[in-house]
Amino acid sequence: MKMRLALLAFLVSFAANFIWLGGPLDWRMPLAAVAAWYLADLLSGLIHMYMDYRPVPPGSGLADVYFYKGSHDSEHYHTLRKQALARVGPIDRLAFDFKFHHPRPEVLGRRKLIYQVRSTVIVLSLPFSVELNAACLIWHVPNWLVAGAIVLIVAGSLSQYFHGSLHREKNPWFILFLRRIGLLMTPAAHAVHHTTLERDFSVINGWSNPLVNVIFRFLLRRHILKEDGLEPT
Ligand SMILES: [Zn+2]
Ligand SMILES: [Zn+2]
Repeated sequence: MKMRLALLAFLVSFAANFIWLGGPLDWRMPLAAVAAWYLADLLSGLIHMYMDYRPVPPGSGLADVYFYKGSHDSEHYHTLRKQALARVGPIDRLAFDFKFHHPRPEVLGRRKLIYQVRSTVIVLSLPFSVELNAACLIWHVPNWLVAGAIVLIVAGSLSQYFHGSLHREKNPWFILFLRRIGLLMTPAAHAVHHTTLERDFSVINGWSNPLVNVIFRFLLRRHILKEDGLEPT
């Protein structure tokens, strides 16, 4: 119920964001849109990197789910998973989802759109969209900046949907079209992440991967990120 209300609040707030687009068209709008598409990719990479290496609470039961040997369709597995996920907060749930998808990427591809986007929408897009409305009410925010912010909200909200599409055989035409023109990355480019788990964390278009890779190597060298966080214990 709470989640539905939050998603509804997001839709209302996001619709209101478009009010501030009014005024004459500005040449900076497409530039802001491209910059926002890059920024969304960068955020997707940084969040993915953090979630991959953030340890989930030991003893939460998530390790039993991760290493479960029996059928993932069984009642026993579903109960175990539900109980373990209920013991941890939303950030640990997201961290677990990222880890879980490494050995079983096709599961992410099978998830429903709502499952893929809800965490990002509630934690990031909803507050950002509300703050954008508040900022536009208080100050005069130029419409090109609003255009960039709207693109950032769209790309950011859909980042896990885009990620899921990289692990799905059949995709809608617009995903294939966006891939063809380079606005979305290809499954082959994302496969580099799955074979190493040490690079190319960005999942929208991959433009920010060179920068994220430098940040990752620095954090790993400084032991701020540790390899033992990659799997639940
Ligand atoms: Zn990963
Ligand atoms: Zn993946």
